[in-house]
Amino acid sequence: MKKVNAQASKSSGNNKPQLEINKPSQQKYWHNPWKMFFWYAILTIIFLYFFQNSVKIQRREISYSQFQHYLENNQVDTCVVTAKSIEGKLKIKDKKTGKPIYFVTVPLLNNDLAKNLDTHGVKYSVKLTNDWLSEFFYAWLLPIGFFALIWIFLSKRMGKMGSNFLNLGQNKVRIHADTLPKVTFKDVAGVNEAKLELEEIIKFLKNPDYFHNLGGRMPKGVLLVGPPGTGKTLLARAVAGESDVPFFSMSGSDFIEMFVGVGAARVRDLFDQARQKAPCIIFIDELDAIGRARGGVSPIGGHDEREQTLNQLLVEMDGFDSASGVVVMAATNRPEILDKALLRAGRFDRQIIVDKPDLKDRIEILKIHIRNLKLDKKVDLQVIAQRTPGFVGADLANIANEAAILAARFGHKKITMSDFEAAIDRIIAGPEKKNRTLNKEEKHRVAYHESGHTLVAVMVPTGEPVHKVSIIPRGMGALGYTLQLPVQEKFLSTKNELLDQIAILLGGRVAEEIIFGDISSGASNDLERASDIARMMVCRLGMSEKLGPLTYGKENRSEYLGISYGTEKNYSEETAQLIDTEVTEIIETNHKRARDILNQNRAVLDALARRLEEEEVISGDEVREIVNQSKK
Ligand code: ADP
Ligand code: ZN
Ligand code: MG
Repeated sequence: MKKVNAQASKSSGNNKPQLEINKPSQQKYWHNPWKMFFWYAILTIIFLYFFQNSVKIQRREISYSQFQHYLENNQVDTCVVTAKSIEGKLKIKDKKTGKPIYFVTVPLLNNDLAKNLDTHGVKYSVKLTNDWLSEFFYAWLLPIGFFALIWIFLSKRMGKMGSNFLNLGQNKVRIHADTLPKVTFKDVAGVNEAKLELEEIIKFLKNPDYFHNLGGRMPKGVLLVGPPGTGKTLLARAVAGESDVPFFSMSGSDFIEMFVGVGAARVRDLFDQARQKAPCIIFIDELDAIGRARGGVSPIGGHDEREQTLNQLLVEMDGFDSASGVVVMAATNRPEILDKALLRAGRFDRQIIVDKPDLKDRIEILKIHIRNLKLDKKVDLQVIAQRTPGFVGADLANIANEAAILAARFGHKKITMSDFEAAIDRIIAGPEKKNRTLNKEEKHRVAYHESGHTLVAVMVPTGEPVHKVSIIPRGMGALGYTLQLPVQEKFLSTKNELLDQIAILLGGRVAEEIIFGDISSGASNDLERASDIARMMVCRLGMSEKLGPLTYGKENRSEYLGISYGTEKNYSEETAQLIDTEVTEIIETNHKRARDILNQNRAVLDALARRLEEEEVISGDEVREIVNQSKK
């Protein structure tokens, strides 16, 4: 696994979990054919019951004594005796309607009845069977139907939570291939690095046996990491589309229910299903919903359900061989909160970063989303892309759609540039207000800031190679970043390396000082990190000559979790002052060092900043090229 040493600068705001833009709709209640059948059956029976009742003849209820009275007077014509009733017809007719009177009465069964009927010449018969249909209706269907109605009512009221009520243990896994239109890599623009890495997995899924015979092992879990809307879900679907295997997709939040244990059952079920269909992909979208680090103190007494679900997921991921052909993919925009256990070898050990698109990629993404739109000839995608730094794929898709809507509203025959302009304005200023876009001036400043970091990183003796510099605002709070990758994985840092790191962190701020004469609020995170390193060197690592090889401050930490509960001051006021001067000294020395480096290489700084402003992202190779060229 690569150690990514990102120097994110310019912090502003924090990232909130964001709603997904095209969250797949929940499973529809009526889509289950068995439930449909059930309700049809009940309706039919209710209908039959009332139908049967309505064709029944209207009977007059009479008391037994009255019946006896009629009998005595020879007024009973015929009757049917059952265990529960005597029904029959009288000889007398209704005075008003002139129709024969039908009656029903509760029998008082005795031996005399038959004799009495005989003596009075009534044609009678005895029926043993009861009206089973009405019995069934009243005793069974009515109560069941009643409760079912309450249930439905409740579930409607409680929304999603309630509908799960009805299908508790059931899984809500969807197999995408059948339901959604196929997505391939052609539908995903940009994210070339991610695509390249996923290519390998596609090859494996297409031919797992081949890999297996070679003795190769596939990663079990692939985690797509990136800000919301950058196409993580889309990429996962594209992998399924490209490799033509079943795609089991579930969102992290689908696992979590109101009842403890349901999520775990769903995880088990999901993996069971997948194993039967291998080779296939399991995709868990928004993994952070279940993958949040365990053991946190929660205000309402723990999240047993989530922990159980997470544990089950870990168990399942350990429990299958990667040769079985099941690849687990997941996506998250908050990798920092994931439980460490999830990222261990044999689980999500491969992480693919899906970053925000740069200018070129934004043009490509726009091209995809205008495929089916009628555009005016004057529409210039380049200009649109230039106006939208920091926009992600989802935003760009939104712009295309919004432009089409606006064109229709204004009655344009084709979508014009002004429609696009209006769409961009709407989305920037719209309800989900994004202050992610930088204006020209800010962009200029951020370009110099990041170039400052980069140049110092290139110039200091122990600086790790720069991998990428970007001034695309990141959702994660940074307006730009310089990414350095170590040549080797490192577990130790020397004093000189730490000092260089401090200089690199200060480089951004220094560049602003030199170029603009003042500094912006954006560098606060850099400063915080630089001071942290300096303080750590003095207090914990014994790297200060004046204070010597001692540690200052006793840290209270949990042996098990490695979590620090803060430090205890175990030194005098004087020492505290000394620590402060030492820390300040370290910072100031390195501030000067960074300043010297940048002043001496002003031409390179300008060249870097210019290129960065134009292209938004430059790779490490380009950085080295620019540095070498301008040095000549
Ligand atoms: P995420 O899962 O990263 O939040 P999605 O995959 O749900 O983002 O992306 C939402 C929508 O944005 C997609 O359905 C697609 O229309 C559009 N989109 C995002 N990224 C891209 C891209 N790289 N290329 C083309 N379309 C994209
Ligand atoms: Zn910075
Ligand atoms: Mg998504």
